[in-house]
Amino acid sequence: MQNAIKVRGLRKVYEDKKNGAKVAVDGIDLNVETGEIFAILGPNGAGKTTTVEILEGYRDRDAGEVSVLGFDPGDLKGQDRTWRNQIGIVLQSTSDAEDLTVAETVSHFAHYYSNPKDSEEVIAAVGLTDKTNARIRTLSGGQRRRLDVALGIVGGPKILFLDEPTTGFDPEARRTFWELIKTLQIEGTTILLTTHYLDEAEALANRVAVINNGRILEVATPANLGGRMNAKARVAWMANGRREEIFTDSPTKEVALLAKNFDGEIPELVVSRPSLEEIYLTMIGDQEVSA
Ligand code: ATP
Repeated sequence: MQNAIKVRGLRKVYEDKKNGAKVAVDGIDLNVETGEIFAILGPNGAGKTTTVEILEGYRDRDAGEVSVLGFDPGDLKGQDRTWRNQIGIVLQSTSDAEDLTVAETVSHFAHYYSNPKDSEEVIAAVGLTDKTNARIRTLSGGQRRRLDVALGIVGGPKILFLDEPTTGFDPEARRTFWELIKTLQIEGTTILLTTHYLDEAEALANRVAVINNGRILEVATPANLGGRMNAKARVAWMANGRREEIFTDSPTKEVALLAKNFDGEIPELVVSRPSLEEIYLTMIGDQEVSA
C-alpha cells in the first residue's frame, strides 16, 4: 500500500521567553497508509496537535522530512490550492459565525474547493438534516462538532485530519460519529485522528501510535499494542463466596479444568485480557518513571 503520510525525524522546538525552549516533537517517524484510520494517542502536552498542525501545513518545523499526499506541507512550491483541495481538517475547536445557518455555513465552505460534495448530502451524512436551517448559536456542542466535520469533508478530501473530534460528546453521539468516520473510510478517505479516548482508538483505528514527550513509544494495531495479545489472560470466578483469579497463558485449559471441578457451570466466570487503557497507562507510566 502507498503511504498517504510519511514523516521522518520530525522535530519542533517552541521558544518560550519565560520558560526557555520546549521540545514539543522530538524526532518522530510515521507512515500512514492510504485508506487507513490512524490514531495518535498521548497525554496532554505529548505533541499530538503540534505534529498534526505540521502535517496540515499550519505550523513550521525545525527538522525532519514530511510528505502528505506526495507534497511537503512546509514547501508546497505553488501547489497550495491543488494540495488543500485534497485535505480536510477538523481542528480542536472552531469558531463558526454564530448567526449563519447550518446550510449557509456548509455552502460557504464548499466554495473554497474546486470539486465540493453536495452540501445537502454532507449535512445528511453528519446527521444534521433536521438542523439544516437552524442558526449555529442554537446548536448543542455535539451538533456543532458534527458541523465541524461537515466542513472538514465538504471538499471531498483524500485525507481527513481530526483533532480530538469527540471531546464533549455523549456516548450515543460518539457512536454515531464513529459510524460516520467508518463510512468515510469505506468511501476511500484516509483518516488521521488524535484522541484521548482509548475506546475511540479501539473502535476506529487500524493502527495507533502512542506518543509522549514528543516521542513515539510504539505503533501497533489496538489489539497488539504493548504486547497485549501475548499478555496472560485473567480467569476469575466465585468459589465458596470468594472471588478467585489466576493469570495464565492457557485460559481454555484452565476453564476446562474448572468446569470439571464444578461439574458444569463455573460461577461468575470471567476471562479477560488487559484492556487497551490498562496497556496504555502502563506504557505512559513506565516512561514517566524512567524519564
Ligand atoms: P493536548 O492533548 O493537551 O492537546 P498535545 O499532545 O496536542 O496536547 P501539543 O499541543 O502539541 O500537545 O503541545 C506539546 C508541547 O508544546 C506542550 O508542552 C505545550 O505546552 C507546548 N506548546 C504547544 N504550543 C506551543 C506554543 N505555541 N508555544 C510554546 N509552547 C507550545
